[in-house]
Amino acid sequence: MSEKRIALLELIEKIERLGQFQDRIDFPSSIKQIWNAFLADVRNLVEIEICALFLVDANTSEFALKYTEPEGMAKLCRKEIDLQIECGIFSWIINRRQPALIPGMAFDKEKSVVMLPLSTVKRTLGVVLILTPIQESFITHEKMKLLTILTKECSLVMENTMLYARLRKKHLSLERANREIKLLSRTDSLTGCYNRGYLNEVLPREITRAQRYKRPLSIAMCDIDHFKKVNDKYGHQSGDEVLKKFVQRILELIRHDTDWLARYGGEEFLLVLPETNLDNAVNLAERLRTHLAQNIIETEAHQISITASFGVTGIYAAIPDISIRPEDLITTVDSYLYMAKSRGRNQIVSGPHLN
Ligand code: GH3
Ligand code: MG
Ligand code: MG
Repeated sequence: MSEKRIALLELIEKIERLGQFQDRIDFPSSIKQIWNAFLADVRNLVEIEICALFLVDANTSEFALKYTEPEGMAKLCRKEIDLQIECGIFSWIINRRQPALIPGMAFDKEKSVVMLPLSTVKRTLGVVLILTPIQESFITHEKMKLLTILTKECSLVMENTMLYARLRKKHLSLERANREIKLLSRTDSLTGCYNRGYLNEVLPREITRAQRYKRPLSIAMCDIDHFKKVNDKYGHQSGDEVLKKFVQRILELIRHDTDWLARYGGEEFLLVLPETNLDNAVNLAERLRTHLAQNIIETEAHQISITASFGVTGIYAAIPDISIRPEDLITTVDSYLYMAKSRGRNQIVSGPHLN
C-alpha cells in the first residue's frame, strides 16, 4: 500500500473515531466527563501544555472559566482570554464559530494558541483554549479540520447534557411543587396536622388493612375542654395559638412512622393508632392528657392552661367478619368522648367498638 493511501486510511480512521465521540460518554453525563473525553481526543491530535474550558454563564452571558488542565492555571488562562477580548480577536473567533490558530498574548510567544469555539447551530456554549508547544507552522490544516470535527461533536454532546440538566432541574422543582400542593391539600392550614379530607381518605384504608390482616387498630377522639372560654378570655388569636401548640405537643408524643393526627372539627382531633391495641391506646391517651394538663401553653401574650378529654376505642382480631364503616367507628369514639365530658372532662373513657 502506498504511503499516501496509508495516510488517507489513518485520516479516515481518525475522523471515524471523532464521529463516535458521543459513544464514549455515558448518559446522563456531566460536563466534567465530557471535558475529560474531549481532552483525551485532543491529546491524540496535538500536544497540550495548558488547556482551559470556558462556558457561557446562563445568567450573566459571560465566559466563565470551568476547568484548566493541568489544574491551577486559572489566572493565566483568564488573562489570555481578557487580552484576546481586548484586541477583538476573541469576538471574531466566536462569531466565525471555527477553530483558530492565533499567537498567544499572555503565554509564551514561541508557543501557539488554538481557540476552539464550542457552539451549535442555535447558540455558543463556550470556548476551549489550548496552549501547545508546537509552533504555528507545524500545526497542519488537516489537524485543524480534525479539531473542528471534534469540537462540533463535543458541542452537541455538551448542549444535550446542559439541556437534560435544565429539564431535570425543572422536572424536580415541578415534582417538589406537586408534592407541596398535595401535602397542603391534605393538611389543616392552622395547625399543620392532617385535615378532614385526609381522614376521609385514609381511615377507611387503615380499617380495611387492620381487618384483612387481623391487626389491632385504635382511634382516640380528643377535644379541648371549655375551649370557648379560652377564646372568650384571651381572644381568638390566642385561641389559634393554643390550637397550634396543642397539636405540636401531641405530634411530639406519638410515633411518627405509624400514628397520625387529623383535625376533625374546630378543637376536636382524631388520633389514629395502627398496630395499637386498646390498652396501649388508653395508655398513650393518658400520657397526652397528663402532659397537656401539667404544661402551660405559652402564647405571645398569655400563659394558658388547658385540659382535654378523650374517647378511645379500637378494633382487634376478634372483629367480626362484617366490615366496619369509618363513620360507625367515629360514632363509637364520639360517644366515649361525650361520656368523658359529662363525667367532668380532663379524662378518658374507652371501650370496644360496638357495631
Ligand atoms: P367542651 O369542653 O364541652 O368541649 O367545651 P368547648 O367550649 O370546648 O366546646 P364548644 O363546642 O362549646 O366550643 C368550641 C369552641 O372552639 C368554639 C369555637 O369558637 C372554638 N374554635 C373552633 N375552631 C377554632 C379555631 O380555629 N380557632 C379558635 N381560636 N377557636 C376555635
Ligand atoms: Mg371542646
Ligand atoms: Mg368540640
